[in-house]
Amino acid sequence: MSTDRMTRRGFLGSGAVAGAGLLWSSSLGGCSLVDAKDGHEGLHAGSESQAKNVIFLVADGMNTGTWSLADYYLQHQNSTQNRGARRSEWVHLYAERLVNRALMETCSANSLVTDSAAAGSAWANGQRVNNGSLNVSPEGKILTPLHDLVQKSGRATGLVTTTRMTHATPASFATSVPKRGMEDDIALQYLDKGVDVLLGGGSRHFSAETRKDGDDLFSKFRKSGYEIMGNRDQLLGATDIPERLLGTFWKTHLPYTLDSQHNQEIAKSVPTLAEMMRAALKVLDRKPNGFLLQVEAGRVDHAGHGNDPGAIVHDQLAFDECIAVALEYTRDNPDTMVVVTTDHGCGGCQLNGMGASYLDTDKTFFNGIDALKSSYENLRNQFGVLPRAEFRALVENSIQLVLTDDQLDTLDGLKSTDYGVSTQIRKWHDPISRTGVNFTSSNHTGEFVELSAWGPGSGNFGSFVTNTDVNAVVRRVLALS
Ligand SMILES: [Zn+2]
Repeated sequence: MSTDRMTRRGFLGSGAVAGAGLLWSSSLGGCSLVDAKDGHEGLHAGSESQAKNVIFLVADGMNTGTWSLADYYLQHQNSTQNRGARRSEWVHLYAERLVNRALMETCSANSLVTDSAAAGSAWANGQRVNNGSLNVSPEGKILTPLHDLVQKSGRATGLVTTTRMTHATPASFATSVPKRGMEDDIALQYLDKGVDVLLGGGSRHFSAETRKDGDDLFSKFRKSGYEIMGNRDQLLGATDIPERLLGTFWKTHLPYTLDSQHNQEIAKSVPTLAEMMRAALKVLDRKPNGFLLQVEAGRVDHAGHGNDPGAIVHDQLAFDECIAVALEYTRDNPDTMVVVTTDHGCGGCQLNGMGASYLDTDKTFFNGIDALKSSYENLRNQFGVLPRAEFRALVENSIQLVLTDDQLDTLDGLKSTDYGVSTQIRKWHDPISRTGVNFTSSNHTGEFVELSAWGPGSGNFGSFVTNTDVNAVVRRVLALS
């Protein structure tokens, strides 16, 4: 995982070590129980009404079950690697009672079950819109997203994601389009509006070669004063801090964390979410009037759609690293409110009891996740690229599924379908029998979700909020009009 890389690098500079000890000190580890005062005394509950900055962390499509099993797995992983049984940062936030905690209702204007476009729009403009729409009301009215108000207040803005940069959640904070699929237009709106930091995947919507209009947005961004980056080395090796930054590290969504851990080429090209967040904070920290930074672990949602237990655990843990980065930042910058939440559940991801009296659960889960070396999506991407024998070996080595010739023939028949191959592999793999993790569907779900916040103004969140309430709190805390 990236923790070692983060430890060596420190916080706001590639060579600096300041803060690293705070992030990964022994005070944050060594026990599976959570101490009441475990190193985060600097946080405060937020009775002040206003903040200079807001950091908004989103684990997209995260069922509470996803978070729970990722926390269990982290303890297992740390204890087997002699790092103690340190729990997730999000658990620490709650256990230390240093955050305000709420349940959030996530409905959209036209469904109890929202999509990310409507959910992000509710946060960004304070009104519910129909699923699929980004800050355009059911009546067709263009609504103003938070970005515009934040910029008007003199602050900077940043969007960081593991999805395509132009995907629904980042787009919801800064753009208004009737259909979320208008990603070429969303990229143009980022340019026109001057979002200061954009880091994620999805170069295809900026490149002249892949945009439908053939427009070279990279050169237009460059002309507008953006530093353009395309791989991890550029991001981590930068010596000067740019005024504005556009980094797209993959053609489409960034690969899953699990695949990055087992593929050096991916790891070389693609930064972790926490690394991107640190780079964004480097730029935004220098803005005199403050900033709004949204950071999205967008592929937690995709792993939920794909019912992929290996992918979901490791992307959730990559999100958790961002909570640590935020904790560290707010220790030095207490005038920052941080929100940690999700926009909706996805897939109904749960750890299920296994065996008589559920006593096979732990072994099944820990050994099962330990054994997974690839997402189903990565296997799909390799199908038809690798020769048959190599593909069979990859599947066997990475998910312990031995494909027969008949099964490979079946996959050949599915070649043209987008998700057909990965769905079929998942069915044969039968993840619940191997890991205990199961899913209720491949769709979003409608339960209330977790929201927590700390820093000045965070006391404005009640214990039960709607997604539209979030907008009112952010506006109030940043004194936006
Ligand atoms: Zn989704």
